Amino acid sequence: MTTKFKNLINGKWQDSLTGESYENRNPANWNDVIGTFPLSSIEDVNLAVKSARIAFEKWRLVPAPARGEIMRKIGDLLSLRKEELAREMTREMGKVLAETRGDVQEGIDTAYYAASEGRRLFGNTVPSELPNKFAMAIRVPIGVAGIITPWNFPLAIPTWKMFPAILSGNTCVFKPAMDTPKTATTLVEIMMEAGLPDGVVNIVHGKGSVVGNTIVTHNDVDLISFTGSTLVGKQLSKDASETLKRVSLELGGKNAQIVMDDADLDLALEGVLWGAFGTTGQRCTATSRLILHEKIHDKFLEMLSIKTKNLKLGDGLLSTSDVGPIINEAQRKSVQKYVEIGIKEGANLICGGKIPNQKELQNGWFHEPTIFADVKPNMRIATEEIFGPVLSVLKCKSLEEGVNLLNNTIYGLSSSVYTKDVNKAFQAIRDIQAGITYINVPTIGAEAHMPFGGVKQTGNGHREGGWTVYDFFTEWKAIYIDYSGKLQRAQIDNY
Ligand code: NAD
Repeated sequence: MTTKFKNLINGKWQDSLTGESYENRNPANWNDVIGTFPLSSIEDVNLAVKSARIAFEKWRLVPAPARGEIMRKIGDLLSLRKEELAREMTREMGKVLAETRGDVQEGIDTAYYAASEGRRLFGNTVPSELPNKFAMAIRVPIGVAGIITPWNFPLAIPTWKMFPAILSGNTCVFKPAMDTPKTATTLVEIMMEAGLPDGVVNIVHGKGSVVGNTIVTHNDVDLISFTGSTLVGKQLSKDASETLKRVSLELGGKNAQIVMDDADLDLALEGVLWGAFGTTGQRCTATSRLILHEKIHDKFLEMLSIKTKNLKLGDGLLSTSDVGPIINEAQRKSVQKYVEIGIKEGANLICGGKIPNQKELQNGWFHEPTIFADVKPNMRIATEEIFGPVLSVLKCKSLEEGVNLLNNTIYGLSSSVYTKDVNKAFQAIRDIQAGITYINVPTIGAEAHMPFGGVKQTGNGHREGGWTVYDFFTEWKAIYIDYSGKLQRAQIDNY
């Protein structure tokens, strides 16, 4: 029998008021039904927001180190259940086990970071311009945070948002992606088991247009942390502006790896294979463009196409699989459309480009890892986010030209340069327009204690990760204490 999952509102698992639900299936085998999940309504969101608002009034008063203790327990529980969670995640969204283990580990790292932040949450004390007067600025929680997430990092991304939000004293209404509700549900179960009071975290499943939009436009939601596509992010930003809430947007990317003529080619090859085809190319930081110096272009392309043709497609739960399926039918159609566009635009299809014909892959959304060479800078396959296993290869004559090509995009998330020349490396770091630059590392591999986010249309200037995310989830309060016993007028009595 199919398992029926529920929303969590005010500490109670409950059906949606609509009574409607949808099925969640394994993308590597669509006959495998993981469970049914609620298709929630506006009213379900209203209940969740009310519960979060009531919980906030108590939670904000819990000392931050005590909140941190719960974060530590969450980290412990995630560690204990790492393998189970990784398997569940692979079954739900397809990426291979090594990667889902990494996804859980990112959640563990984020939990322990949050636990330690409970003993910091540093503010500032500064001298006052007047005698016998004290000045300081402290961080205070903001209120109810709406958390809206995509499916490609179904555990890590919600933890990047909810752990700092909750550690800072806020409460959450969490709407996960419809493709990954099970991982989200287990995460919330673990958070409750670790000791969060009722209402501090609530989960409401359902459509972005209903559940997501209600959270975004709700008068009683104070801030929104969103990761997803640039298209939805732009609309969401407009929708949220009516209530002037604080919004953090982590959006799309069109990341590139440059390989210079002096690079270690074997290292660069490993890097691009991992960057372009890891998570089946469905990472915001995926390597979608490869910019090769003309002197090594032909040789490197040949090395790359041999390795790419040898990548084994398959169910991510099998140890033999290198690349898992695409998330769903619509996304595979979109990838196929981009392959057609690339061919029409005159790019040279080097390998892949098709739905595989092996018998064991016929019940999943698989697509061959695909490489286009002779790609021109303004082709659609060089400028638009494809979010699948498709790599566009361009050629450059110099580092300057390579960096210009890399910057030729509306996005600015991740970037990578392979070179042994330290001067070139620093020049690239200076000139690349991206939130993240890797030297001799692929475009993927962010660490939980570092700032994460992008420039240009990848976001709106906020950062997740490390210490920087706490700037988003707290408000600064300036405090003056005058112990002179008389009225001292700033800017007047001291001049
Ligand atoms: P998406 O934009 O389709 O959906 C993201 C979330 O928003 C989902 O939970 C969805 O239900 C919800 N949503 C949809 N419409 C909404 C609306 N009108 N109001 C409120 N919520 C709404 O993205 P996706 O397909 O789940 O994920 C892939 C995208 O996410 C890619 O573009 C990728 O680059 C991006 N991404 C970015 C980062 C980053 O950190 N920059 C990380 C991972 C993924």
